[in-house]
Amino acid sequence: MQPTFSIIAPIYNEIGNLPELYRRVRDVMDGLGEPWELVLVDDGSRDGSTDMIRQLAQQDSRVSPVIFARNFGHQIAVTAGLDYSQGKAVVIIDADLQDPPEVVPELIAKWREGFQVVYAVRTEREGETWFKTATASVFYRLIYRITDVKIPMDTGDFRLMDRKAVNVMNHMRERHRFLRGMSAWVGFRQVGVPYKRAARYTGETKYPLKKMLKFASDAITGFSYFPLQLATFLGFLSAGISIVGIPVAVVLRLAGHSQLTGQATTLISVLFLGGAQLICLGILGEYIGRVYDEVKGRPLYIVSEEPADFHQPELINSKESTSNGQN
Ligand code: UDP
Ligand code: MG
Repeated sequence: MQPTFSIIAPIYNEIGNLPELYRRVRDVMDGLGEPWELVLVDDGSRDGSTDMIRQLAQQDSRVSPVIFARNFGHQIAVTAGLDYSQGKAVVIIDADLQDPPEVVPELIAKWREGFQVVYAVRTEREGETWFKTATASVFYRLIYRITDVKIPMDTGDFRLMDRKAVNVMNHMRERHRFLRGMSAWVGFRQVGVPYKRAARYTGETKYPLKKMLKFASDAITGFSYFPLQLATFLGFLSAGISIVGIPVAVVLRLAGHSQLTGQATTLISVLFLGGAQLICLGILGEYIGRVYDEVKGRPLYIVSEEPADFHQPELINSKESTSNGQN
């Protein structure tokens, strides 16, 4: 039977949070009186979370375990959850209980009003370092300015999506995924619901600075050409400066002022331009590397165990299958 609601949680070493996550999701969802499922995607955990997921699935058949062959990253884990979910409305939630399951009924209420994407907006953040809060705030504002898709500020992946929107998302097989951008991109009727983001229940963040930077660059390259245009802008700027500079230097020289010479000036301008060029090359490289990844067309993830009752004929896991309609 098709559940009405699917709750998706990506799991990477969350053994301390799993029982509490299950308990709170169950209590909230049972209160709604409609069939639901909890899709737990194990993203290559090494702390025993995998066994705990299996155990939860054995106790309660509404728990759907999707177990990856290795760690593929948060956004990919959520993507697998979307692929394997069967509900009419699908909610993405973090496993560390920072997104309180108790907010889900509010999202569902908006869905019942006819919205296809209901995203939760963080009005407050508890228990996060000022560094995380500050960088996140700068990041969301930057993304908002430089992308064409208006990605709502201060939203995470905590959101509800209607089956229609999920099906569209499932056909977007890009590798470097920024799901909150993609879900804004699909359109439909969207609305935000404010909530207070809690502190992590137990454990530590799985997003060290390196992953945060990768996430930010995926978001920017996935939704904007601004960094590429920066090279053009810098080019025009330095060409402009030299167009003004050349006659100035000539006139000064003819007038007998030759203070403009000097090795330091030359060296500095060469280093500056060399640096600017290398940075632009690097930016170009970021895009080209991503193009290469897309062209390879590898599957987004490898599943080593999937839910026993899973049957979704049009499950699409590779670029191939979307382009020629085969699996
Ligand atoms: N996560 C994952 N794979 C990873 C990193 C994180 O599935 O490689 C999951 C993690 O278990 C959690 C969610 O993604 O459910 C969000 O991670 P986290 O809470 O560490 O991020 P933060 O809230 O600190 O940004
Ligand atoms: Mg978290």
